[in-house]
Amino acid sequence: MALELVTLPCLTDNYTYLLHDDETGQTAVVDVPEAAPVLAELSRRGWTLTDILLTHHHDDHIQGVAEVKAQTGAVVIGAAADAHRLPPLDLAVSEGMSITLGRHHARIIEVPGHTVGHIAFVFDGFAFTGDSLMSGGCGRLFEGTAGQMWASLQKLATLPDETLICSGHEYTAANLRFAASLDGENAALQGRIEKVTKAREKGLPTVPSKMSGERATNIFLRAGEAAIKAAVGLAQASDAEVFADLRERKNRF
Ligand code: ZN
Ligand code: FE
Repeated sequence: MALELVTLPCLTDNYTYLLHDDETGQTAVVDVPEAAPVLAELSRRGWTLTDILLTHHHDDHIQGVAEVKAQTGAVVIGAAADAHRLPPLDLAVSEGMSITLGRHHARIIEVPGHTVGHIAFVFDGFAFTGDSLMSGGCGRLFEGTAGQMWASLQKLATLPDETLICSGHEYTAANLRFAASLDGENAALQGRIEKVTKAREKGLPTVPSKMSGERATNIFLRAGEAAIKAAVGLAQASDAEVFADLRERKNRF
C-alpha cells in the first residue's frame, strides 16, 4: 500500500507536508508553519490527522502546532533533545528509534547543524529533512558547527537515489545559483537550474527533490569532490573543511 504525499506552501517560503497511508487512513503532517492551510487541506481531502512530526524548534516550523493539535488531537512527535523548546511532545524520539504510520515505518536520524536538536524522519521513499539537507542546499549553521552539519549530510547521503527529499523552504533557485558560481561546468546542475526556473515562473514548488538529483547538483553534498575542492582553492583540505568553506561562502553570496 502506498503512502501519498501532499506538499503545501505556507507563510512566505515555508513548506509543510502531509503523508497519508491509504490502507489505515493514518495521516501525518511534517512541521506546521501555520495551521490554516493544513486544516483546510485535511478537510478538503477528508483525511483525519493522526501524527504531527517536528524536525526542529524554529518558529516557522512549529507556530501552527498548538492549533492543529487542539483541532485534531494528533500525537506530537519531536526530538527528545529539544523537548524543552518544542511544543509539548506526546512522543520524544532520538537517533535510531522508529515511528509508524499505518504499516509504514520511519527511522529517526539526528541531523544537527542548523539547530543542535534537528532530526529527520526517513520513510521508505521519503525523507523529511526540514532545514538540514535542503533542495539544492543545506540550512544555515545557527547552533551547530560545520563539522556537525557535514556529518549530518553524510548520514543522509546514504539514502537511495529514488528517495524524495522533503525539505522546509523554497530556496532551491538561490541555492543552485550559488552552486553554479563554483560548479558552472556541471551539466546536471545547469539542467536543474532550467527546470527550477520554469517551475518558479509557474509558481510551482521545487520540492520535494530526488536524492539522485541532490547527489549530482547539491554542492554541499559534493564537498569531497576534487573539482569542488579545487574551485574553492582548497585542493588539499579535508571534506569537512571544504564544506565549512562552502557554507561560509553561501552566507556571503
Ligand atoms: Zn529552521
Ligand atoms: Fe526554517
